[in-house]
Amino acid sequence: MCPGENQEPKVVSKEDMVGIDLSSTVHTNDAVSDVKAAPAVNGVKKDATHAGSVTTTTPYGPHPADFLSNVRNFKIIESTLREGEQFANAFFNLETKMKIARALDDFGVEYIELTSPAASPESRADCEAICKMGLKRSKILTHIRCHMDDARIAVETGVDGVDVVIGTSSFLREFSHGKDMAYIEKTALEVINFVKSKGIEVRFSSEDSFRSDLVDLLHLYRAVDKIGVNRVGVADTVGCANPRQVYELVRTLRGVVSCDIETHFHNDTGCAIANAYTALEAGATHIDTSVLGIGERNGITPLGGLVARMYTADPEGVKAKYNLSMLREIENLVAENVEIQVPFNNYVTGWCAFTHKAGIHAKAILNNPSTYEILNPADFGMTRYVSIGHRLTGWNAVKSRVEQLKLEMTDDQVKDATNKIKELADVKTQTMEDVDVILRVYHRAAQAGVLGLGESVKLDQLLEAHREGNNGIDAIADVPATKRQRTEA
Ligand SMILES: [Zn+2]
Repeated sequence: MCPGENQEPKVVSKEDMVGIDLSSTVHTNDAVSDVKAAPAVNGVKKDATHAGSVTTTTPYGPHPADFLSNVRNFKIIESTLREGEQFANAFFNLETKMKIARALDDFGVEYIELTSPAASPESRADCEAICKMGLKRSKILTHIRCHMDDARIAVETGVDGVDVVIGTSSFLREFSHGKDMAYIEKTALEVINFVKSKGIEVRFSSEDSFRSDLVDLLHLYRAVDKIGVNRVGVADTVGCANPRQVYELVRTLRGVVSCDIETHFHNDTGCAIANAYTALEAGATHIDTSVLGIGERNGITPLGGLVARMYTADPEGVKAKYNLSMLREIENLVAENVEIQVPFNNYVTGWCAFTHKAGIHAKAILNNPSTYEILNPADFGMTRYVSIGHRLTGWNAVKSRVEQLKLEMTDDQVKDATNKIKELADVKTQTMEDVDVILRVYHRAAQAGVLGLGESVKLDQLLEAHREGNNGIDAIADVPATKRQRTEA
């Protein structure tokens, strides 16, 4: 069972909505939109300028003058199998880890980070097994404490790189490992040189970077950059940083080191995606994510949310890099394994992420989805829904259902039927089945010539008769026999 489907409310399930055929709609958010055949909507064909082949540039990308921005050139370090293992509900056996690693590789993340092989014998065996999987795209990293004992174990597992971390904030120096900055620098240089000597990548990160002394941090990063570390890492371990602070720290660091910059943002105060995006704007190169954001406490930047954000800035680039239609499958896989539901309002895959309700929204969406959608659901293998059995519904949305049911109704008849749906929905939300009955009974009676526009009371009688078990038309005594036969044919 798909976790995203488990929680769909009974009254407003997807069966009660109109799935909109994506092939007939055109998104214009895309950086390059090839608008070949704009559909005729509500009988109005688009004008030549709108319907012709057009090229548009997204206004949501980096500023052209911002030459340090990596918004169009970033890499994902997917840490579900490291940070995600620290989620309260997570326990991944090797089989599950391999399934998740395979799915992430198919999705196309550049790196997969694994729990330290020094953590337990099982962690070490799992790390070795995943390294032997022969993943196509993703490089394997493992995440270790800045300690030679851990480094010696890590380099023997077959990983492509080692992520080294140590706490540099006064809190961690005083209450965690108790080491001073001179000791941290000496150990860091020793570990980095050792990992480099094995011919694999090495990253050095401070922990709790935003509550560390800036002078200490920059001194340390400069020292490790000088001996050829591949990346330095900035980590908001407690989720305290805001985007402006992230921009300032990363931009300052960008001017101090020449290596890549990795960033890691916890989501305690809801800034993890915004902070990741801002870090890229400031010149960071790598972003840590986990599927559904799972991790220590309430987790880190979620893979799906980051991808949605980056797609908005560079749709073509993101579509080329990642297999976006796999997102839902990966999230369901992880959600099932850690026994959680995909949140109803999740980025991209939440059950209402592409559901439109208000009549005025539905009308505009049917004309051009970009009016109320920044993400094109088709690019993520998702479906757009228009909810119609409620008091806010509009006749354009109802008309799309009439067309799906292949009923021939004039616009005036659709508007008339819509009035009945709204009237009934004012008392109780109508299911899709209820809506279909109203439309079918209306259509049948109108075709038979027994229902005219505005005959609300007669329509009520027809619906009542239908509920009582007959077809709702024969119940009306004055139906001419010829018309009755035609209807029944
Ligand atoms: Zn973390």
